[in-house]
Amino acid sequence: MLYDVVIAGAGPVGLFLAAELAQGGAQVLVLEQAANPDSPFKRLPFGLRGLNAPSLAALDRRGLLQAVEARQVRKPGKGEPPPPGTAHWLAQPRALGGHFAGIPFALDRVDSDRWPYRLPTPAGMQMAVDMQALETVLADRAQALGVQILRGVAVDAIDPAPDQVTVVAAGQSFAGRWLVGCDGGRSVVRKRGGFTFAGTDAEFTGHSLLVSLQDPSVLTPGRQYTGQGMCNFNPPGTVALADFDGGAGHRHVLDREGAQVLLQRVSGRDAVIDELHLATTWTDAARQATTYRNGRVLLAGDAAHVHSPLGGQGLNLGLGDAMNLGWKLAAVLRGEAGDALLDSYHAERHPVGAKVLEWSRAQVALMRPGTGARALAAVMADLADTPDGATYLAERVWGLWQQLDLGGTHPLVGRSVPDFVSAQGERMGEHLREGRGVFQVFTAASGMADALQAWQPRIRCIQQPVVDALGLAAVLVRPDGVVAWASDGAGDTDGLAAAATRWFGPAAGIRS
Ligand SMILES: Cc1cc2nc3c(=O)[nH]c(=O)nc-3n(C[C@H](O)[C@H](O)[C@H](O)COP(=O)(O)OP(=O)(O)OC[C@H]3O[C@@H](n4cnc5c(N)ncnc54)[C@H](O)[C@@H]3O)c2cc1C
Repeated sequence: MLYDVVIAGAGPVGLFLAAELAQGGAQVLVLEQAANPDSPFKRLPFGLRGLNAPSLAALDRRGLLQAVEARQVRKPGKGEPPPPGTAHWLAQPRALGGHFAGIPFALDRVDSDRWPYRLPTPAGMQMAVDMQALETVLADRAQALGVQILRGVAVDAIDPAPDQVTVVAAGQSFAGRWLVGCDGGRSVVRKRGGFTFAGTDAEFTGHSLLVSLQDPSVLTPGRQYTGQGMCNFNPPGTVALADFDGGAGHRHVLDREGAQVLLQRVSGRDAVIDELHLATTWTDAARQATTYRNGRVLLAGDAAHVHSPLGGQGLNLGLGDAMNLGWKLAAVLRGEAGDALLDSYHAERHPVGAKVLEWSRAQVALMRPGTGARALAAVMADLADTPDGATYLAERVWGLWQQLDLGGTHPLVGRSVPDFVSAQGERMGEHLREGRGVFQVFTAASGMADALQAWQPRIRCIQQPVVDALGLAAVLVRPDGVVAWASDGAGDTDGLAAAATRWFGPAAGIRS
């Protein structure tokens, strides 16, 4: 059978993308190497992941927010024990908005008045989830939309041809018109697909350990910088270490003795490990595919970019890739769009990825052992405690900085659409749930609402006043929630038809 799209990898990005494609009418097969989706590395404490504003908006725009919210990692009520590995994180005296290289910024310093195009939304700015819960929600949605997921089937080889791609996995052959590698940082699709993975090598190995300590009081809770790197201790037995060994530790599997030597060396304390329950490594290598598309093969998520998990950005970046690529590839498969739309995936997402890699590298520079980095970190901490500093950090950590260069004249073009709400409580986030474009006219300007009738049903046209239109008369939104066109003046439709054609193809009855 020839699938529309074969996706390698049923991680969060592959699953989210699969559902996006299926919603757009594509027949999708996902091949996943792990036989079992359950893993202790996806559950707390190691599976803890922070979602930022674009990810939460994406979940909301597909009707998944409530399901994820129901499984979020919450601050425990009075007298309740904290979820494993989160005690220190949840016990901060001031409500924190996030951190940069471990330097926190406080919520009460963030000046949200500086974001003129944000409206209150149930999607919010950040949420903590565990990977397993998130993947369960995403897999349920993908399967409900008809996606086929084969587990225990690792992609070994690919053979791209002009009109399809053959994938060899676990001794079987599968064919798709398109192949998307969502198979993580060590992506086979990337390696076999002729992609260049450019960037910088690791300076440190990160170790996540779950241990029973003979005497936990030997380690100081929280993040400590040492002569060898960093030790972040979450009592009673969750430890994250950054060992500035040039990434050498990433190549070895630790046993109890090895973990103890490492812990003592990096923490500088006489900590004794009675038992090693779980151990995993990661690094700060920062690499990005130089192109996200090579013919009929595309990359998304960690397959397209890797960097240190500092400050929790990788999953968010990958979900953003999937949200950007899904509707475009589905439109190409339906014959409504061609290469230009598909190539806009790389053009839009590569710069976002590059900026996240830089953010990660900047944090590593502040974590290096030595007095220079500590002095710089102290300066950074002072700045982080100012309204300017905290607001800047919030913008970066929460993902509010993202604005795609779509070439429009209105300052909202390329940004995530504000969650406009009508007097009846209908929100923009809800209008987007069908995965179609939305043209919403907020005024009663005669004729404006009819301007895009010829693009229906690709674009859903709504004439509905909202509680706060932020001075706008109308807005055209892509299926991924990105503003394609906006106007402040009632009846001003300059550039509207061009934007509709660019993102949704020619109007019905008009040949390009
Ligand atoms: C300690 C740590 C903390 C982190 N915290 C955060 C955070 O707070 N916020 C955040 O945004 N990000 C965070 N990240 C990063 C985040 O986990 C990743 O960016 C995210 O999981 C990437 O998703 P993905 O689907 O692209 O890849 P993965 O999650 O790696 O999924 C890839 C899938 O592909 C499968 N696969 C691999 N090879 C093959 C093959 N050959 N054939 C078929 N299937 C294959 C794998 O089994 C896996 O299921 C953290 C990472 C670490 C290590």
